[in-house]
Amino acid sequence: MKHITTLFICSLLFVTQTNFGQITQEDPEITKMISEIKADNLEITVKKLVSFGTRHTLSDTKSKTRGIGAAQQWVKSEFEKYALESGGRLTSIIDYFTVKADGKRIATDSQLGNVMATLKGTDPSDNRVLIISGHLDSRVTDVMDAKSDAPGANDDGSGVAAMMELAKIMSKRAFPYSIIFVAVTGEEQGLYGARHLAEVAKKGNWNIIAMLNNDMIGNSLSSGTKLRDNTQVRVFSEATPYLETNEEAKMRVLTNRDNDSPSRQLARYIKATTNQYVAQLDINLVYRNDRFLRGGDHTPFSQNGFTAIRFCEMNENFDHQHQDLRTEDNIKYGDLPEFMDFEYLRKVAASNLATLANLAGAPNAPQNVGIEVKDLTNFSTLTWTASKTTNVYGYQILIRETSDNSWQKAVFVKDTKATIPYSKDNFLFAVQAIDELGHASLPVFPIPIR
Ligand SMILES: [Zn+2]
Repeated sequence: MKHITTLFICSLLFVTQTNFGQITQEDPEITKMISEIKADNLEITVKKLVSFGTRHTLSDTKSKTRGIGAAQQWVKSEFEKYALESGGRLTSIIDYFTVKADGKRIATDSQLGNVMATLKGTDPSDNRVLIISGHLDSRVTDVMDAKSDAPGANDDGSGVAAMMELAKIMSKRAFPYSIIFVAVTGEEQGLYGARHLAEVAKKGNWNIIAMLNNDMIGNSLSSGTKLRDNTQVRVFSEATPYLETNEEAKMRVLTNRDNDSPSRQLARYIKATTNQYVAQLDINLVYRNDRFLRGGDHTPFSQNGFTAIRFCEMNENFDHQHQDLRTEDNIKYGDLPEFMDFEYLRKVAASNLATLANLAGAPNAPQNVGIEVKDLTNFSTLTWTASKTTNVYGYQILIRETSDNSWQKAVFVKDTKATIPYSKDNFLFAVQAIDELGHASLPVFPIPIR
């Protein structure tokens, strides 16, 4: 890949990208971190999680060996091990909270807990936060059955194992701002853990740049249709922000922004970053918040106005999801490690790592991004105010046709204003800030300036 300094010869430079528009050089440190993710380690973690018998939200909290309590303590103890190599920057807690009986999936008032590790950023003036999650709880056929074995290997041992593997690898490194690694609880009972964390974040005014929910990312064979594919993973992102105001809705319609919500920008960013760093894995962008009529742990974050997406395997296997362990008509039911594809899980974990590390190194996104509309012209002029962070090397204007799902071209500029020979009638744009190593911020969609 072309070194970025060679792009610096002229102040305005056009590069046609074959792959999704971002001009970035490869950061060898990200490649190194990805090489440290091992399928074998992920398998060991998943099997350890399964060994707690059940991790049902309402299962035993006192036993040292069985139930959600033992699983929480174990995840916490692993975080503490990683902390030893983090130079004191990784700290962990079990964030307990009480949920009231809801007459549905919570029978009595219960104390739940999210196990959370925070890798503190090195720049105290930078309040940005990244979050990666999986859900620790598991279930069988009856969602209220807290006693039967509920291995939850893939749902969601896979997401928790990926999150923990990243915590271990990334906490040995330093990033300017903070990354939160969390095993939430209560997903199967109604997204309780994620909702609690999203509400804490909202109250605390957390500056969350991106929230990555990983739920079922380790199975590559579909039930029924028997599709086998370990080269694609779905990323779900909302089209219209939940908290969109009437004014914003008007502006969305005026600017044809239906496919450019912040979460959609994040999804595209993941696709581009994965394409750059992870061999044999493609991001399948699904244009909905989650699967049809279903939700996940990113949903409460979306509902609180944060930029959040869900990673989920391409093909689900319903024989191994939410099932009592049994064999019927020669079909073995249940969410067991033997049905998982740990090489696939490794690749999806790598996609998460590349995304987090790229974002964590990136400057703040440009502010007040606008597009001039006072004159009729076949050129487009974009302006923005400089990113507040100091590590800005330049900016990229991303360009795509209105019918395309990924950025097709990128224009690199050093200034905070650029005029490009692409008509705003025919193309969509966004602007992102990049640092010297090519780490890019999330792209920002421009609003009209009159
Ligand atoms: Zn799940």
